[in-house]
Amino acid sequence: MKRETKLCHYGQPSRPGPANPPVVRASTILHDTVASYRATKAARETDDSVLSYGRRGTTTAHALMEAIADLEGGEGAWLYPTGVAAIAAALMALVRPGDHLLLVETIFGATRTYCDKVLAEFGVSYDLYPAATTDLTPYIRDNTRLVFVETPGSQTYEVMDLPALCASAHAAGLIVVADNTYGSGWLCQPLTLGCDVSIIAGTKYLGGHADVMMGSVSARGEAADLVRKATHLSGQSLAPDEAYATLRGIRTLALRLERHEQNALALAAWLDARPEVLRVLHPGLPGHPGHEIWKRDASGSNGLLSVVFALGIDTEALLDNLQLFGVGSSWGGFESLAMPIAPERSRPSLMGLPEEAQIVRFHAGLEHAEDLIADLEAGLTAVTAKG
Ligand SMILES: *Cc1c(COP(=O)(O)O)cnc(C)c1O
Repeated sequence: MKRETKLCHYGQPSRPGPANPPVVRASTILHDTVASYRATKAARETDDSVLSYGRRGTTTAHALMEAIADLEGGEGAWLYPTGVAAIAAALMALVRPGDHLLLVETIFGATRTYCDKVLAEFGVSYDLYPAATTDLTPYIRDNTRLVFVETPGSQTYEVMDLPALCASAHAAGLIVVADNTYGSGWLCQPLTLGCDVSIIAGTKYLGGHADVMMGSVSARGEAADLVRKATHLSGQSLAPDEAYATLRGIRTLALRLERHEQNALALAAWLDARPEVLRVLHPGLPGHPGHEIWKRDASGSNGLLSVVFALGIDTEALLDNLQLFGVGSSWGGFESLAMPIAPERSRPSLMGLPEEAQIVRFHAGLEHAEDLIADLEAGLTAVTAKG
């Protein structure tokens, strides 16, 4: 069955019945007999779809777990109240005191902060490596345990060669964990490219409507056992309403991503031709250094792009002047966004840019591209006229 068809059928209850799995709210699950209670407790040891107690999720969350495991190609998927909680849960499951980690330098900011502020307390250290790395040998130490990847990288979209990097990591016995929020299980499946664990902040495209917070961890092999165990032991869980909203978002994931991609590419092409713009960062542009690898490993790009503006352009005034782009954190909803960003100057894609260069991260929503471009044009005209 094609992936698009599966999106429409994930978790459908038996018939006659509703088209969507209902929101089932429960802490206690009642049994008529002690034997039934005992059998359920035993069955849940090996099967996450057993309805046993609210903390292990009800049928609503179970339907979502199955859908995400299938999207990501995982042996299983586990759910968390935010994307950062999913990242923290995966790291806590896989890392031991004294371990050393390798983080790609373009990693999502909060992932690095978690290592700095929490894992450091447990004697876990890390080094950064460049996104273009395919041979990890120079970075591996005796106590290196895990490699964290994210492709394309947060905010600057450097593309990683995951098959090559995973081969290098596995030759050294390392676990590879991917932040797959960009691809969200649709554009890219890190588990099929060699990674052991794939994390999605479902807050972004899975929910897709700027009204859900959630995260998932999908995994294969030994890593799946470790994540599953740690998730249950630490009481992680996703509320039924959030699970319902995420599954509803997933129904239209393919269609929405198609439009997000078209709109982002239209904005990228238009901005690239503007005199106010020094550079457009977007892996779907043929001139992007990672374009060929991304084409090989993924089925498209999403609505994100970052734009480096020429010196002297007042980007803050530009953003204030935009009518259709809201200013705010997050992305992946139906709406267009713009936000000033300042990624570390150590990132290779930014080398050679003047210190004062101003960068704006845009998320192209589902509006008509012509309206978005007209809004940008009006905003740019307003700030250049003033200057
Ligand atoms: C947003 C985001 C997260 C964190 O998700 P939250 O739901 O906000 O905690 C993690 N990784 C990436 C790449 C993200 O964009």
